[in-house]
Amino acid sequence: MSVLDLAREEIRAMQPYSSARMEASGGQVLLNANESAWVPNGDDGLGCNRYPEPQPAALIHALATLYGMREDQVLVGRGSDEAIDLLVRAFCRAGQDAILIQPPTFGMYAVSARIQNAGVIEVPLVDDFTLDVDAVLAAVTSAVKLVFVCTPNNPTGQTVSRGQIERLARALTGRALLVVDEAYVEFADQGSVADLIDDHDNLAVLRTLSKAWALAGARIGCLLANGAVIALLRRIMAPYPLPLPCVAAALAVLSPQGQATAREHLAVVRAQRVVMREAMLKLPGVQAVLPSQANFLALRFDDAGAVYRRLLDAGIVVRDVRRYPNLGDALRITLGTPEENARVLAVLDGGAA
Ligand code: PMP
Repeated sequence: MSVLDLAREEIRAMQPYSSARMEASGGQVLLNANESAWVPNGDDGLGCNRYPEPQPAALIHALATLYGMREDQVLVGRGSDEAIDLLVRAFCRAGQDAILIQPPTFGMYAVSARIQNAGVIEVPLVDDFTLDVDAVLAAVTSAVKLVFVCTPNNPTGQTVSRGQIERLARALTGRALLVVDEAYVEFADQGSVADLIDDHDNLAVLRTLSKAWALAGARIGCLLANGAVIALLRRIMAPYPLPLPCVAAALAVLSPQGQATAREHLAVVRAQRVVMREAMLKLPGVQAVLPSQANFLALRFDDAGAVYRRLLDAGIVVRDVRRYPNLGDALRITLGTPEENARVLAVLDGGAA
């Protein structure tokens, strides 16, 4: 059985849209896509009068190199949000199939499932927000096509071990695709599990340039997976999802100089995570600061609502995560610059910002 047997049959059978951009090889007169023959004002050498490549070869190459994958194992889209949406649409039949998540976790898995009218099976993280592999496996019915695991998890910040991922991938072979969301993995002590994809055709990994690479505004995210899964998703993605300026921005941050800058900022965030957690634990009204492997800290307060308002009055917006199950009276605070973090501490300590 191939992992593609888990996908929707009508998606596997359909004829994909053939984009005009793919009919040209370069150096030709392009009169096949009803584009303008003239470069627009302010184009800056991008050539925005032409449609972009559906999967830009240079960017795919840079990302495959960065993540240690083959190019046929990489799909790049408008943030990992788009990859989540494509996975749900390709694998879940409306009204029949389901995804499995472990709350409290990132909200878009369930949102994408609900848009597709797929079910959402929830297996909560256990008390200290760790994954219960046995409980997940016990909950995988024949309707479950995708199991999402977020590591480090948003909003709790904890990781799932490589051993647990391997166990899940093995047990789910032929049953479901295991989608490991590594949006925050650059901030973690433990590395990616993407190298396990060669051994497990039902393992897929989400990566993004939105966090450690400082490129949330360009909307560049990836799915790393078995080549057959990538080829299937390429058939259903939007014809030209990646605007040329966004591709140029991604190539710039992935240049040697861009990588050096990203590494510098990563080190600052990781150091600030330790400093901030220690300082926060000493503050009045703070019940707990969850240990985090990401670029944020989740804190439980005596009165999170009051703290949220106090921060807002001081001009600081944090994430109110009280609606998430089992988190309690909590806020999630992203680690900013050391100066921004100092302002947060001053407000939490009851002083002026
Ligand atoms: N996964 C997780 C766990 C996230 O927290 C986020 C963003 N908040 C995403 C995926 C989406 O990221 P992107 O910007 O790549 O769409």
